[in-house]
Amino acid sequence: MHKERMTPKLPPHNWPTIEPGWVWLCGAGPGDPGLLTLHALNALGQADVVVYDALVQEAILDWAPQAEHIYAGKRGGKPSPQQRDISLRLIELARAGKRVLRLKGGDPFVFGRGGEEAQTLIQHEIPVRIIPGISAGIGGLAYAGIPVTHRDVNQSVTFVTGHDQSGNTPSSLDWAAIAKGSQVIVIYMGMKHIGQISAALIAAGRPMSEPVAVVTTATTAEQQVLETTLGSIEADITNAKLEPPAIICVGRAVLMRQVLDWQSQAAGAPPRNLDPLGRDDGTAASA
Ligand code: SAH
Repeated sequence: MHKERMTPKLPPHNWPTIEPGWVWLCGAGPGDPGLLTLHALNALGQADVVVYDALVQEAILDWAPQAEHIYAGKRGGKPSPQQRDISLRLIELARAGKRVLRLKGGDPFVFGRGGEEAQTLIQHEIPVRIIPGISAGIGGLAYAGIPVTHRDVNQSVTFVTGHDQSGNTPSSLDWAAIAKGSQVIVIYMGMKHIGQISAALIAAGRPMSEPVAVVTTATTAEQQVLETTLGSIEADITNAKLEPPAIICVGRAVLMRQVLDWQSQAAGAPPRNLDPLGRDDGTAASA
């Protein structure tokens, strides 16, 4: 099979060209290759080198058969390359006149250090283009049938990271304030410290019975979804042997999965509950 044939054709448009010496910092979406943007696809077709992270599905690299693929993530328990080393590598490649595509999971500017990388490049006078991507905290939840906002549930949503640079629960986060102020909380990198996080939210007044969903390897064939409550989440994650990467969603938006779990429905399961929030205004079709 010719790999070239696997590159989908882009519709006619004034597509930008990666010039030699440029770095395009690009989101790859949460996993499913179909969630790439057209700008990402356009970039994959032109790059001389693709520098990609652990969360980027390898299938996506098939769309850059002409490029050298450089892995810049954690694998096999080895420590991840230092951020500084990755940035320096990008600078080196750009200075060598390569068309560099830096591909990161989800959106490059959402908990992905894309801002740091772009800043370092610009400080070294390397021209950059930023291509946003679908972040796991939005697209991953959508694949699980959870709308990140829903009119009857929340008028705001808070995205938080479950650990900081030191690997601890971020001390800069005021969990009590988040508990009080955020109707729906979407936690990235929260698996390791979920016991501490859920305890902090409960201590600040969130009910033990509050719905929570854990979505692992969202949008891929291995996607798993656990529906639980704030009081049971830690034990349930252990019992279900769930592993990162996972998005954890806290709040009543999770209940909407009872009607919106479109993947199970596509596989033949009926919706569990057509009106999980009990707000039926009579417009729902009667059986
Ligand atoms: N820039 C990325 C986030 C990088 S931080 C984005 O916008 O999505 C890495 C964390 O993102 C993971 O620990 C996990 O919490 C989340 N994540 C990324 N991809 C995921 C996926 N496919 N399924 C579940 N969580 C994912």
